[in-house]
Amino acid sequence: MRVKRNKNHRRILRFFRLTFGVQEPYHVLVDGTFLTHALQQRIYVKEQLPKMLEGRTTPMVTNCVLEELRSLGDRALGAAIIAKGYYRLKCGHEDPIVASKCIAQQIGQQNERRLLVATQDPELLQTLRDVPGVPLIRLHGPVPQLEEPSKTSQKRKASLETQKVRAAEWEKPKLPKLKAKEIQAKALAEQPKKVRKKKGANPLSCKKSKKSKPGAGVPTPAPEANPKRRVRSRRMRAQENPEPSEAA
Ligand SMILES: [Zn+2]
Repeated sequence: MRVKRNKNHRRILRFFRLTFGVQEPYHVLVDGTFLTHALQQRIYVKEQLPKMLEGRTTPMVTNCVLEELRSLGDRALGAAIIAKGYYRLKCGHEDPIVASKCIAQQIGQQNERRLLVATQDPELLQTLRDVPGVPLIRLHGPVPQLEEPSKTSQKRKASLETQKVRAAEWEKPKLPKLKAKEIQAKALAEQPKKVRKKKGANPLSCKKSKKSKPGAGVPTPAPEANPKRRVRSRRMRAQENPEPSEAA
């Protein structure tokens, strides 16, 4: 059971991370209903939330949440003491308002601060389901559970995906032009190579001719066989250019 639950939680967290950027360290806004329920179930929230989310987690309260717990007196004394030890998210309400309204205000229309909310308040849960991208945590008995993404969150994801597709479609007419440019660039890149090949052919032919010279040198023993030719040539040179012979 626990393994299956963890898998579900991972899947849900992945959804919120990829679609809405909710990621570690998780900032969980906790309300009084959650804290009192956790106390009744003898759950140590600071320990259980990071276990459930499998990551660094900061439970938070607002001043309004704390004040509401204090106003309940002895009934919520334990919860108030716990809440006092949590990180205090500044809500800006100098005169405390109803905690659920304060939390809804912190989340706003888009949950820009990417908060998670832990509450047992069904009305607050319903309100927050209408805001896209708010991971909701509830206690089922002693077990903290991450709620499936709300319809609003799923719709937002779908609309984001269609936007991406539309963007791609809008870009499509530009693609042929880009491809044509790429082809042109390739052709340009290949053309000088061809020229180089042509140029390369000439030095090769020159090399071949150089090779042919030593090849001609190989049959030099042949002239040895006919020393007369050599003699003739030397004589001819001597005859033709008498000056170098005199210098020698
Ligand atoms: Zn407040």
